[in-house]
Amino acid sequence: MENKPDRSVWLEGPSAQCSPAPEERLRPWRLVLFGAPGVGKGTQAQLLQQRLGACHLSTGDVFRAAKGRNGCVQSAAMAAALESMRRGELVPDKTVWEMVRERKACLCCTGGFLLDGFPRTLAQAEKLSELLSEEHIPLDAVVNYELPLDAIVRRLSGRRTCAQCGAVFHISEQPPKTEGRCDLCNAPLLQRDDDRPDAIAVRMAAYGINTAPLIEYYRSMGLLLSVPAAGTPRQICDRTRGALDARTPRSAA
Ligand code: AMP
Repeated sequence: MENKPDRSVWLEGPSAQCSPAPEERLRPWRLVLFGAPGVGKGTQAQLLQQRLGACHLSTGDVFRAAKGRNGCVQSAAMAAALESMRRGELVPDKTVWEMVRERKACLCCTGGFLLDGFPRTLAQAEKLSELLSEEHIPLDAVVNYELPLDAIVRRLSGRRTCAQCGAVFHISEQPPKTEGRCDLCNAPLLQRDDDRPDAIAVRMAAYGINTAPLIEYYRSMGLLLSVPAAGTPRQICDRTRGALDARTPRSAA
């Protein structure tokens, strides 16, 4: 079954509307996809979105969508956030949290969610836990994708992203049918500013300092599910699905 949830509210903010409305699910999956930049969380989120029906909520995608709306007036906080992003640095917690809190409806959605790139700091994780507990929304698991550093750097530096629809390719591991063009919409494929070598080094350092400590945070809550991220995207997705099925979804309890 092919499921394509709409991400309008997530990408554009609460004034937008998702169409069609998400269907009620018996077991909506609510997951955090976790791991270093370049480990493949975005690709897995796209595949899992099709299989589980839950919406792919990437904070990086919200910032990139805001960048694409350059014509609109941008708040000072958003302009500063985009500059941090270009350098590979983390956006301040306050800006990230305001943006996520504005989109609280996506976390409360009956279709579930796949959070990708959030939380990235302990402060963000604590805010998320507070919000979910206020709303009585259980988290099923935090899927921690694991890959050695050299493989991560290879993945990041070869990654190409569609300027129009955001589809992700890799110059050697998942090349597009026509070089430099998106298979889905034929728009040009670009290298993200933050996939360039200097920004990759900054992002890996930010991950080690700010984000990796969340592994223990979620392990102590009994939510951590580690999944090796070597292999093809489909193999990793099958592995993820197997690991999730081996664990009864908490929201079904
Ligand atoms: P991603 O697409 O998840 O790799 O995110 C791209 C960039 O957006 C990151 O390198 C950060 O600059 C920024 N960003 C995305 N999500 C967050 C977050 N949760 N906290 C801080 N910065 C973020």
